[in-house]
Amino acid sequence: TPRIDTQVADVIEGLGEWQRALRAQFPIITTHPELAYLDSAATAQKPQAVLDAVHTYLTTTNANAGRGTYPWANRTTTLVEQARDRVKRFLDDPAPERSAVHFTSGTTEGLRSVARDWLPDLLADGDEIVVPVADHEANIAPWLEAQRYLAGQGVHIRVRPMPYQRASGDYDHIALAELAGGRTRFVAATHVHHVYGGDMNIHRIRRVVGPDAVICLDAAQSIGHLPVSVADLDVDFVVFSGHKAMALPGTGAVWARQARGPKFTPGGWSGTPNTVGIASLTAALDWLDAAGTDRIERWTVALAARLTDGLRHLDAYEILGCQTSLAADSSVQRRQGIVTFRHHAIDSSDLGFILFSHGFMVRCDQHCQGGAGERTGSVRVSLHIHNTVEEIDRLLAVLATLG
Ligand code: PLP
Repeated sequence: TPRIDTQVADVIEGLGEWQRALRAQFPIITTHPELAYLDSAATAQKPQAVLDAVHTYLTTTNANAGRGTYPWANRTTTLVEQARDRVKRFLDDPAPERSAVHFTSGTTEGLRSVARDWLPDLLADGDEIVVPVADHEANIAPWLEAQRYLAGQGVHIRVRPMPYQRASGDYDHIALAELAGGRTRFVAATHVHHVYGGDMNIHRIRRVVGPDAVICLDAAQSIGHLPVSVADLDVDFVVFSGHKAMALPGTGAVWARQARGPKFTPGGWSGTPNTVGIASLTAALDWLDAAGTDRIERWTVALAARLTDGLRHLDAYEILGCQTSLAADSSVQRRQGIVTFRHHAIDSSDLGFILFSHGFMVRCDQHCQGGAGERTGSVRVSLHIHNTVEEIDRLLAVLATLG
């Protein structure tokens, strides 16, 4: 429709120069102009500033944290402590003294840590937890494991499946309101769905479950892509992966609000933290804040809108999940930079191979979605700030030839 075209064109015109300057900062992208990296939801590419931070740390400072007394060790300890503050600032934490940041190897490990280290203290016999059964598996298994573990200790909790709206991939807030009650103590929710691409309306979940329930946010697909403010979202845990936010693999964090939870700071200095990873995370969050996650969001949302709009005109394709490509009204669910689709006749892995023969790197198959998710494979295009409108148009042109 012209409306989407115009909105997309406005964003591209307004941010184009800024975007070109940022794209130039990704060496892996600029050295491979023939390739289009469309798999940022799996892992993000790293800007030069992150590569520099890794090099600088390893060539000037590398030591263990929390134990030595010489300058390199002290600097490493400080680096880890300051990285906690950096994460808090990135998340717009209004009450830093009453929150904790625990470094992990990624979202999977982070969610497991919430289930293992915090959840038992939050729940009593007879309590209920809400688990989203078509989210990423990493946001399902830990809660079911916790249920079994707690039952072994005589604490029996009930797991209520988070209902979905099939057409949009959003949570079904009306059905949630029917199942949530006074015993609903904990809700595991995702900020941006890794298959359906939509922003999952966390405000509405808070309104439905009330002020006392604990909400744990899987922010794997939102950190670095849009502003994530714990002040605004009113959640109790935020869990994310550093590697999806332009830091090194093997990094991630759990941010925990302490007001509702126990005053528990796990970790301490009992093991060696991933110091170089943490150095890279600080640099990545600095870079993302300087770039502006609000502008990154506008850019990737616009490209995703152009892609969904183009796909709608190709009969051979079905788009999964979020149907709103650019919503002016902020109360409407909107698609972030993830577009997942399937071809009516070509298997998703085959389509992935075909696309790579044209230089496009995408994700295929089931995307680690939980058991209640899609039964048939699909192709996922996931965007970041280095992606361009030319890449989207070239992709659409190739997809059109397969119709
Ligand atoms: N949650 C969501 C929504 C994801 O998309 C992913 C990764 O794709 C994960 C969790 C797991 O992240 P990681 O593999 O970094 O632990």
